[in-house]
Amino acid sequence: MAERSVPISQFPSEGSDFIREIIRADLAAGKHRTVITRFPPEPNGYLHIGHAKAICLNFTLAQEFGGRCHLRYDDTNPTKEEQEYIEAIERDVRWLGFDWGQHLYFASDYFEQMYQWAEQLILKGQAYVCDCTPDEVREKRGTLTEPGIPCEHRQRSVEENLNLFRRMRAGEFPDGSRVLRAKIDMASGNINMRDPVMYRILHAPHPHAGDAWCIYPMYDYAHPLEDAIEGITHSICTLEFEDHRPLYDWFIDQLELPEPHPQQIEFARLNLTYTVMSKRRLLELVQEGFVRGWDDPRMPTIAGLRRRGVPPEAIRLFAERIGVAKRNSVVDVQLFEHCVREVLNRTAPRRFAVLDPVKLVITNYPEGQVEWFSVPNNPEDPAAGQRQLPFTRELWVEREDVRAYPLPKYFRLYPGNEVRLRGAYLVTCREVLTDDTGQVVEVRGEIDPQSRGGQAPDGRRVKATLHWLAVGHGVEAEVRLYDYLFAKPDPDDVPAGRTWRDNLNPNSLTVRPHAQVEPALAQAAVGERFQFERLGYFAVDPDSTPQRPVFNRIVTLKDEWAKVAKTLTPSARS
Ligand code: ATP
Ligand code: MG
Repeated sequence: MAERSVPISQFPSEGSDFIREIIRADLAAGKHRTVITRFPPEPNGYLHIGHAKAICLNFTLAQEFGGRCHLRYDDTNPTKEEQEYIEAIERDVRWLGFDWGQHLYFASDYFEQMYQWAEQLILKGQAYVCDCTPDEVREKRGTLTEPGIPCEHRQRSVEENLNLFRRMRAGEFPDGSRVLRAKIDMASGNINMRDPVMYRILHAPHPHAGDAWCIYPMYDYAHPLEDAIEGITHSICTLEFEDHRPLYDWFIDQLELPEPHPQQIEFARLNLTYTVMSKRRLLELVQEGFVRGWDDPRMPTIAGLRRRGVPPEAIRLFAERIGVAKRNSVVDVQLFEHCVREVLNRTAPRRFAVLDPVKLVITNYPEGQVEWFSVPNNPEDPAAGQRQLPFTRELWVEREDVRAYPLPKYFRLYPGNEVRLRGAYLVTCREVLTDDTGQVVEVRGEIDPQSRGGQAPDGRRVKATLHWLAVGHGVEAEVRLYDYLFAKPDPDDVPAGRTWRDNLNPNSLTVRPHAQVEPALAQAAVGERFQFERLGYFAVDPDSTPQRPVFNRIVTLKDEWAKVAKTLTPSARS
C-alpha cells in the first residue's frame, strides 16, 4: 500500500525514527492496510506531560500514515479508577488537539470476551486456578538466577479448573483466595513467563461495568486482547514492558486470534528535570495539599499546564522535538520552556504590567496632562497592530527597577541615571525616597521633552528601557509567579532517610497581590495569553474576575535552553 504522508505541523520535524521505520516496512510488506494505534490510559489519575508524549506519538502516527488512533480506557483495576478521571482524560486529549472520532473504547466492555478466552485457555490446558497466597506465588516464582517451583495446583484437571474458575466468577470465593494463572513455563529465563496471574478475585464495583464482575483481568492478559479486539496494528508502550512482550505475544498466539496480530513496540518514557511524573506521587501532592489541585499550575499534569497557560501547540512541538528513542533519559525542563516561548513569541500580544508598583513622579510634566503613545502589540507580528497608552505626570514602575544607590552593572533608575520609558520619553532619575527599612517608596525624575516616543534627538544612548503604566489608568491585578515544584533537578536526589517530598521547593509560588495592568486586560478571557513586557508570558487564571483579574506566569523571557543548546552537539539536542 502506498504511504500517505500528511504534514503534522508547521514546525521543522526531526524526520524519521525507529517506530516510523517499522510502520513503513510493515506497510511496504503488505502486513497491514490501515495503521491503527491507541492511547490506553488507566483512569486512575490525571494525565501528565509524559502521557502527552504518548498521545502526540500515537495520534500523529495515525495521522501521518492515514490511519486512526483509538482512545481506550484501560480500566481493569476498579479500586483506583474514577469517573472524574475519565472525564478529565477526554478533555485533556481533545485540548491537546487530537480527535478519536467514533473510536472511544473501554477495556471493561471486553470483559465477557476476555472471560470466554480465559475458559478457552483452561480447556486447552494452558491456564489453571491456583490457591496459593500472593506471598506463596511470589516465593515460588524464583529469581533471575533460580527457576520457579511449580505448585501442586498446576496439575489440576481441566474440569476442576473450569469449575473453580466459574465459581470464582460467580462470587463464591473471597478476595485474594484464588487466582487464574497461565500455564507457561516455571523455569523460563523471563520471569514474566513463569505462570503469570491472569485473573484475581476482587469484590468491588467498577466505574464503567458496575457490579457485573468480581474477578478482574490483569494488565498482561487484558492488554494484548484489547489490542487484538480493536485491530490495533502497532501497540506502542514504554520500555518497562519490553520484558512483557513475549507474554503479550503468547496470549495472542495461544488464542489463535486472527492475523495480523498487533505488534508491541516500546519506546523511552519521558522524564523531566525538576518534575515527578508518577501518578501515585502526583496524587500524593494533591491529597496532602502540597498543591492546590490536579490543575495547580505547578503540576506537570495537562490540566495544570493548561491552567498555567501553556498552549497545546507548545506541548506538541516539544513532543516532536524530543522525538522517540529506545533508551531512557531525562529531558531538561528548559527545553520544554523553550518550546513554550517559541510558540508564545509569535502569538502572544504584548502588554504592560507592573508587578510590584512604585510611583515615579515626573516633576517637569504638567499635572492633569495626558498624552497617548502608540506601542506595537507584537513586534514579531506587524499585523497585530498598535495600541494607545496614556502617559501622565505620575507613573507606576517596577520596584526592582529603582535603587537608591546603584550596583555594578545596574543601569536602571538611580539618582542621576537616564533610562527610556518604552515608547514614551527618556527620563533622568533625580531622587529616590525610601522608608525606614530602605525599601523604595517613590522615585522622582525629569523627562527630556525632546525625546518624545523614547528617542533622544541627539541620538545619545541609554542602557535600560523600562515598562510603565499611568497611575489611575491601570487596573489592579493578582499575579502568580511560579518556580519549579522541586528544588533539585532530580527530586529523588536525597540523603538516606529522606524522601522526594523533602525536595519540594518552598518558594514554588510567589503572589503579587497589587500588580497594575493595562485596563483592557480586565476584560481578557480566561486562558488568554500575553507577554507582559520584560516579565514573561502570562495567562488569565480561572479565578479571574473583571474586578480582580488574576494572571499566571507561564514562563519568564529568559531562555536558558538557548544557552544550554549551544554547548550540546546537534545529536544530543534532539
Ligand atoms: P500507572 O501504570 O502507574 O497507572 P502510567 O503512567 O503507566 O501509570 P497509564 O495510564 O497506564 O499510566 O499510561 C497510559 C499510556 O501513557 C501508556 O501507554 C504509557 O506507556 C504512556 N505513558 C505513561 N507515562 C509516560 C511517560 N512518562 N512518557 C511516555 N509515555 C508515558
Ligand atoms: Mg500503566
